[in-house]
Amino acid sequence: MLLKTRGTAFNINESIVGRVTRNQFELDNSSFLICEDELPERDNPFIGVLTKHKIHTNAYYSQPIVSNVPNFDHLSNGDIVVVNEDGTIRTLYRANSHHNVLFVTERCNSNCLMCSQPPKDKDDISRLYKINQKLISLIPKDCFELVITGGEPTLLGELFFKTLETLKEQLPKTEIHVLTNGRSFAWRNMAERLSNINYNRVMFGIPLYADYYQVHDYIVQAKDAFNQTILGLHNLARYNQRIEIRIVLHKQSVPRLTRLSKYIYKNLPFAQHITFMGLEYIGYTPHNIDKLWIDPHDYIDELNESVEFLAGQGMQVSIYNSQLCVLPQNLWKYCRKSISDWKNSYLPICQSCTKLNECGGLFTWNLDKHSDYINPFLV
Ligand code: SF4
Repeated sequence: MLLKTRGTAFNINESIVGRVTRNQFELDNSSFLICEDELPERDNPFIGVLTKHKIHTNAYYSQPIVSNVPNFDHLSNGDIVVVNEDGTIRTLYRANSHHNVLFVTERCNSNCLMCSQPPKDKDDISRLYKINQKLISLIPKDCFELVITGGEPTLLGELFFKTLETLKEQLPKTEIHVLTNGRSFAWRNMAERLSNINYNRVMFGIPLYADYYQVHDYIVQAKDAFNQTILGLHNLARYNQRIEIRIVLHKQSVPRLTRLSKYIYKNLPFAQHITFMGLEYIGYTPHNIDKLWIDPHDYIDELNESVEFLAGQGMQVSIYNSQLCVLPQNLWKYCRKSISDWKNSYLPICQSCTKLNECGGLFTWNLDKHSDYINPFLV
């Protein structure tokens, strides 16, 4: 799905965040008008115009305008975009989706072998913070859920907490899911600062890949990461934060999976949710595929034992990014349709499958790298 397009920008000196509409009667001073046909009157009480028309001079408007945009088919009324000086129009929020994120930085203090969004060491924090503050103010108050992601969100420092405070104030009914490696919470004052916000709609999704520090540290490519993450998990629990533990399944994590599940039960019983997640074939993964790939069919025994053990102890367990035909039927009740709509696809053979509507399918980028055991159900 297209989330970015580009045209020729006029009168734009810094990134502008606004809601798009094609309806002239819905316009306000936070709106961009998508203009497929005739251009509107000069200078209007909205932010600016996005148009397919070919304009070669800014003589017509003094307002921001992006012209020569190839098409707007991917944008619905109410979507929120950021329009940049170079004419790029990035979708930040899709009004008709439950899968929206606040992307807060490309920086990270880990460098995981299978990172789907490889970190970049660039100073983007204050720019993205400003964009996200405006974005939050425009998101509808009935938004069900938002994911805060990066990079590593806690690297924002005080701006991370201010982002949560803004969300609590402006979107009090929205569930917030923070994807973090949890290492920053090894410092107790970070967890304490969090608890002072007193925000019970936040869940922290934190990866843990092994019960043994050398394996976890190798997977995340960061010394002391295991100790920091475990300390961080305990500090978050000490301050009554809600925690989800996320385990990506691959050749490095599978051998200790059952030991990890026992470790979690014994040492992290406060976790509210444990997710076992299939591997995404994007980011670093294609480069490290020899170190990572194991056909999901070949880890069924380890997955089965780990899931049934944790569920048997009364813990809430889910399996993400997996296909029903690859798993034994006793695990289906743990499978969730976890892949965001904009990156969710099915193979051509899935069209004949009787479980198509119940199956979560694949990441679009996994269409070329998936289990050899995908096989449609015919009855
Ligand atoms: S064939 Fe496709 S739709 Fe059917 S269970 Fe397998 S992956 Fe899912």
